[in-house]
Amino acid sequence: MMDLHIHSTYSDGTFTPKEIIDKAVEKNLKLISITDHDNIDCLEESKKYTKEKNINFLSGIELSSDYEGKDIHILGYFLNENDKKFIDKLQELKNERESRTEKIIKRLNQFKINITYQDVLNESKSDLISRSHIAGALLKKGYVKTRGEAFSRYLGDSGLAYFPKTNFKVEEAVKLIKSNGGLAVIAHPALAPFGHDKMNILIRKLMKIGLDGVEVFYPSFSKKELEFYKKYAKKNNLILTGGSDFHGNNREGIDIGDSKIEKEAFDKFYELYETRLVK
Ligand code: AMP
Ligand code: MN
Ligand code: MN
Ligand code: MN
Repeated sequence: MMDLHIHSTYSDGTFTPKEIIDKAVEKNLKLISITDHDNIDCLEESKKYTKEKNINFLSGIELSSDYEGKDIHILGYFLNENDKKFIDKLQELKNERESRTEKIIKRLNQFKINITYQDVLNESKSDLISRSHIAGALLKKGYVKTRGEAFSRYLGDSGLAYFPKTNFKVEEAVKLIKSNGGLAVIAHPALAPFGHDKMNILIRKLMKIGLDGVEVFYPSFSKKELEFYKKYAKKNNLILTGGSDFHGNNREGIDIGDSKIEKEAFDKFYELYETRLVK
């Protein structure tokens, strides 16, 4: 029905917005959002092409943010791309990614792994660099056999060349989306590196500054997790969203539309989409 969590070549996905949209049309989806990491560069191309293809499109982003040293992702929807302050903030995130990449490469070089900044750039089709592109370079040069190995040996948080990046604090990420006029949604809550109790504390804190929704429908959630967050979101009057987190060939076994979204949640969200469009 809909997929509100998709990555394109403007972050670490392998499909261009056009390829994503073609696939969504083929799958007969009613509404999609492309939610690249920390940027909205896909918007121009996506809006134009979705119009041509007659499929509903919603602007989106997935911001990485920090909560007590843990990486928490906040999805933003209905974004105002003309908000200069917002765009400037996103540029800061790109710069931060560049300096982290330099540190990672330097460390890898110390381990006699000869990859260059250019090798990593070659893996990215945009100017946003993620560890996923470093993994691609390691794979191409034969230093690892799989992307998973690149993360477990080098890039993941217990890897030899791990460097965290300085993200916005989670409150700041939510505020950034809210002050842009967008809808702020906590991404894949069951994937957080802590349990429901701490997630409950975090969500309550974020609700006070305007958190709007929870990503309840997500391919890797167990039935139990899905039911837990469904009930939780309803009880707290939060919007229920869902998406596949499609990354193209960078995430095997996940296709566009694999969002498990249930009809009731789809109907509600679609109604919101139509109302906000008219506004
Ligand atoms: P970054 O945003 O630069 O910190 O990179 C994180 C990205 O790397 C995630 O969005 C995933 O696409 C990818 N990633 C993280 N862990 C793994 C893993 N174990 N295997 C493959 N890809 C991963
Ligand atoms: Mn990713
Ligand atoms: Mn995420
Ligand atoms: Mn994602």
